[in-house]
Amino acid sequence: MKPIEAKETDKKSILDLSVDDLRALMKQWGEPAYRARQIYEGLYKHGHKSFEAITNLSKDLRQKLNDTFTIRRLRQVDAVTSAKDETRKFLWQLHDGYKIESVIIYEGKRTTFCISSQVGCPLDCKFCATGKMGLLRNLTPGEIIEQVLQMSEIIENRPSNIVYMGMGEPMLNYEAVIASARVLGDMEGFGLAPRRITISTSGVIPGIYRFADEEQPFSLAISLNSVDDEVRKQIMPISKKYPIEKLLHAARYYTEKSGRLITFEYVLLDKFNSTQQDARKLVKLTHSLKSKINVIPCNSDDPLYRPPSKEKTAVFRESVNDRSRRITLRKRKGWEIQAACGQLYAENEKRKKKSKN
Ligand code: SF4
Repeated sequence: MKPIEAKETDKKSILDLSVDDLRALMKQWGEPAYRARQIYEGLYKHGHKSFEAITNLSKDLRQKLNDTFTIRRLRQVDAVTSAKDETRKFLWQLHDGYKIESVIIYEGKRTTFCISSQVGCPLDCKFCATGKMGLLRNLTPGEIIEQVLQMSEIIENRPSNIVYMGMGEPMLNYEAVIASARVLGDMEGFGLAPRRITISTSGVIPGIYRFADEEQPFSLAISLNSVDDEVRKQIMPISKKYPIEKLLHAARYYTEKSGRLITFEYVLLDKFNSTQQDARKLVKLTHSLKSKINVIPCNSDDPLYRPPSKEKTAVFRESVNDRSRRITLRKRKGWEIQAACGQLYAENEKRKKKSKN
């Protein structure tokens, strides 16, 4: 995908600034420090799209902000809603022409926003459409937040949960991911409880240690997908660098240091990781960790990576439940609109090809 060059006149997005950056700016502009909080609340609590609308600021300050910054919003290119379960997928265009996707998943009372952290992803997990794109660039904090603001505006409601499980590996864009989560999880910012924000990693170990050492208040999930190093290397090349034993060591470090539970995501792939033996090994390796396991039948269109049969899935689930009762089987939400885990971007590629023909 070839990026469209940003116009030279493009102003900086104010959504890329933290509240501390705003404080420093107000100081530099000779404004009282509380102005930073007023701007912050105007942007995230009230979701204002123009400085003019933040009426508790002086006219001069609004003008100065307007001359210097923009309150950027993503351009909606496409949106699809699943007729089956109302899952909604959005395709956005960034200011430089790159495209990303985000998804809204409804489950009971929960409204979960699944957001992207990179354009593409460098990790090449074999069952994942995004992985086939390679990495095009990291998103900025503002671009990550824009997805949430935009979807909240569209559904005229706020999410109950946010998961960083869209395009990209969050731990490889750590600073921007944490900066965005701080705004989203700040009661004076967007206002979601931090534990309702989940950062998900495919196993970038240094990121897990950093997350633990910095005592981040957000939830952590690891996309495990196999407990056999050889199999994991085949389906997730990142495992060559970060083997399972070291990954589980990092997971334990996090749970012990934070006192919190960790979630293991386990995508069930027929012929790779879904036997009763795999289930037993999964329990053996994780039972002493403060954790829960989410099992998700694979969503790949690739004939090599298919979900196991319903019967096999049930046996796997029972084999884990027999021993630990910590497993949830997630439904394949958004499957038919290519919005489920591992499917983001594939549909855009197909559509593009179709429209060229
Ligand atoms: S599953 Fe996640 S980490 Fe793996 S290639 Fe896809 S987006 Fe990247």
